[in-house]
Amino acid sequence: MENCLFCKIIKGDIPSTCVYQDEKTYAFRDIAPMAPTHVLVVPKAHCEGIDVIDALDDATLAACLRTVRKVAELEGLTESGFRTVSNCGKDGCQSVRHLHFHVLGGKQLSERMD
Ligand code: AMP
Repeated sequence: MENCLFCKIIKGDIPSTCVYQDEKTYAFRDIAPMAPTHVLVVPKAHCEGIDVIDALDDATLAACLRTVRKVAELEGLTESGFRTVSNCGKDGCQSVRHLHFHVLGGKQLSERMD
């Protein structure tokens, strides 16, 4: 997608700090971290969000969740725990319309989800 920020990051047109990537997914550090570890996991194929997830093939969707787990392992979060969030649409405060999973950890996170 020409005007998609995360598609440009995946292509390397906009710089990012890669944490992990494979054939179907890309994981990179969030530019405005909200926890000591804050990584974004995205499918390399463009999909706007969970509201239109039917457009994404099952293998890519599964790969995203496997990459979340891989990032947690690489970042040393497996034992201490972490949070995965995918904001969707206006009320969910989604600011980039390319499906992404936040991986947050490295501190005790709040119980509140709002
Ligand atoms: P959301 O608000 O859930 O759509 O998440 C979008 C995330 O992308 C935010 O946490 C931003 O800080 C992050 N972000 C925006 N631009 C960049 C960038 N150039 N590199 C890394 N992360 C970014």
